[in-house]
Amino acid sequence: MFEDYIPIAALNQYAYCPHRCWRMFCAGEFIDNQYTLEGTGLHDRVHTLGSNHRDDTWQVRAVWLKSDRYGLIGKSDLIEETDGQLYPVEYKRGHRGEFDNDELQVCAQALCLEDMTGRPVTQGFLYYAQSHQRQSVELTPELRDDAIATIAAVRTLLHTGQMPQPKYTKRCRGCSLYSRCLPQAAKKVSRYQEKF
Ligand code: SF4
Repeated sequence: MFEDYIPIAALNQYAYCPHRCWRMFCAGEFIDNQYTLEGTGLHDRVHTLGSNHRDDTWQVRAVWLKSDRYGLIGKSDLIEETDGQLYPVEYKRGHRGEFDNDELQVCAQALCLEDMTGRPVTQGFLYYAQSHQRQSVELTPELRDDAIATIAAVRTLLHTGQMPQPKYTKRCRGCSLYSRCLPQAAKKVSRYQEKF
């Protein structure tokens, strides 16, 4: 059934913070901040461009991907084919190497591509719009295992609706849901409740 397909974007959010994923995909909350607005603007531009050839590379933008095997669905920014090799390219506004959840998203897109085409996908790319840098993402067995484990975790989250506790990390500083979540205050309240 369609509702059993997990949005690839939810995997990225879960890897960033399980509580944020719960707020967005179970509680239906979302607030923009500077980073999310820049990201939305970037994806809007990327998703209007169509397909073309650049040198020996065929490019097609805004492709819907789906995997029956893994129960995944989502839209890729760009799919390229060079020398018979297909691979996904995901656009990001941030900086290279900032967070590994982006690599997980590329891996999930590759799993879909493999399932749809029956062809092996050995790598993908992250493209950073600010620095115009491309970072190769090697689809190692470890990254694949990580993506598959995250698919299972997100499926459980969406089916149970059970809220993971917020946990304050350095990622909270850039999180658009900070004002809803208040992770440091939630920790104090929970410590206080444990005493009584
Ligand atoms: S503020 Fe921190 S704990 Fe709360 S949703 Fe954002 S990243 Fe997660």
